[in-house]
Amino acid sequence: MTAYDPENIFAKILRAEIPSSRVYEDDDTVAFMDIMPRTDGHLLVIPKTPCRNILDATPAQLAAVTATVQKMAKAVVAAFDADGVTIQQFNEAAGGQEVFHLHFHILPRHDGVAVRA
Ligand code: 5GP
Repeated sequence: MTAYDPENIFAKILRAEIPSSRVYEDDDTVAFMDIMPRTDGHLLVIPKTPCRNILDATPAQLAAVTATVQKMAKAVVAAFDADGVTIQQFNEAAGGQEVFHLHFHILPRHDGVAVRA
């Protein structure tokens, strides 16, 4: 697998070299709004430490990120009065990954409303 690239866009967001709309942060993780939201309230959750994707993650990174994913899923369902929530996660280009820093998508969902392309 290709090595972690510290110049990826989420690494720059972590270093605050480019702006983002952070909604949550703890010692190990950050959550921020996706720049091209596919539903209202589309969030991304990432670890603060370098990690290319789930194939590269340590158990500790995965535990920290999934704990924040659950916290954020509950928060967006409440904040957006959603009927459900979709969690998505992509690994390597063949798996649909475009930004090579581990991230989970959190998409609040409403009955009868499709995800935008
Ligand atoms: P994936 O790697 O899971 O296919 O998708 C990466 C996601 O990152 C996309 O949903 C895209 O809209 C989002 N994204 C790409 N560049 C930026 C950025 O500069 N800021 C934010 N907040 N999101 C981004």
